[in-house]
Amino acid sequence: MRTIYVDKDIPRMLAVKAVKPVWGNVVYSRLSSSRFVDLPDPELPGPRWIRLKNRMCGICATDLSLLTVDADPKIAPAALPGHQRFYLGHEVVSTVEEVGPDVTTLKVGDRVIMWTRFQGANCLSQEIEPPCRQCEAGNYPLCENASKGIGPRGVGGGWGDGYTAHEFEVYPVPDTLSDEQAMMVEPLGVGVHTALRKLPQADERALIVGSGIAGLCTLQALRALSPACHISIMARYPHQQEMARKFGADEIIGSEDSYEAVARITGAIVYNGMMGNRMCLGGFDVVFDCVGSAQTIQHSLRWARSGGTVVQSGITLAPMHVDLTPIWNQEIDLIGLNSHGCETWNGKQYETFALTIELLQQGKLTIDGLVTHRFTLERWQEAIATAQDKRSKSIRVAFDYR
Ligand SMILES: [Zn+2]
Ligand SMILES: [Zn+2]
Repeated sequence: MRTIYVDKDIPRMLAVKAVKPVWGNVVYSRLSSSRFVDLPDPELPGPRWIRLKNRMCGICATDLSLLTVDADPKIAPAALPGHQRFYLGHEVVSTVEEVGPDVTTLKVGDRVIMWTRFQGANCLSQEIEPPCRQCEAGNYPLCENASKGIGPRGVGGGWGDGYTAHEFEVYPVPDTLSDEQAMMVEPLGVGVHTALRKLPQADERALIVGSGIAGLCTLQALRALSPACHISIMARYPHQQEMARKFGADEIIGSEDSYEAVARITGAIVYNGMMGNRMCLGGFDVVFDCVGSAQTIQHSLRWARSGGTVVQSGITLAPMHVDLTPIWNQEIDLIGLNSHGCETWNGKQYETFALTIELLQQGKLTIDGLVTHRFTLERWQEAIATAQDKRSKSIRVAFDYR
């Protein structure tokens, strides 16, 4: 079984971090703890485990930040024991190849996508009874028993031939979805979860910061779930602007001064303090920061109206230096999210993936134009370079194993 993984080997990670600014390809060298290897096919470690053969897998920024060792060992999640080895690739559609004797939800030949496996263990995958309150509610990435380390862990991931998983770590997909659509349920699901963390009402204005896959999926989800709200999006590249227009953005903010754009769209007043220190009064009801850098969080808090909300969807795996004064000074709510879980929508409870699949089937979400490049696994370094360089016009780059 060919697979690509990164080991949590702190001395090597620190060495790669130190050398990376002058030697970008160090992540592919022997100095790094990332490996492309051929492992013997693993045995199923328990009666409720399954073996999967991969069909397609996307290259997500989260995988890339693990590969390129962006994580700072001082961040909160790094204190949790959890994973020692990260198998890369989670936007993966696979076929079930083998099932253990006690598997009840799946059979050989079923098509599935990775569900909770990438976020780590939870009460279902560790077979903990009764489950914690978060798992009980369907918010598996927030499991309070995630770091108990009970039971076996799967081998392999989406960047490779296949993997082993507990039956509850994958999610079945209906035959009506194509492999590409199935592969895109995860990033679209994150968009749905982002939108529903603070859904703008019909008369409200939303701003999306960033037009990578996360921004474009959030745009689609907002359009699907709150059709009448007003949506602005910041998009740097022409191909991103074109997609944003296609997915129903009301305003696209390109090269114009972003504070002036906030004023133009919302009627906010921009104040210019000393040394480039700028602030808006008035602004957007909700700002979705789909980049999540110190810079974008800092500005997003100033682009929200007083009493408004900033939803942090993008992630940075390092402590940040950010001016948080708008949180108390303007009573801005800053909230975040961990990928996907469960949703309340139109008075009904859904798993995020179930709602996403339903919206895809209704044509309210689309993958049209999102999967821009396909590679074989052998060309993985070229695939990653294409995903990292937005001048390649890439939106989602995928491995195709079919
Ligand atoms: Zn992803
Ligand atoms: Zn739990």
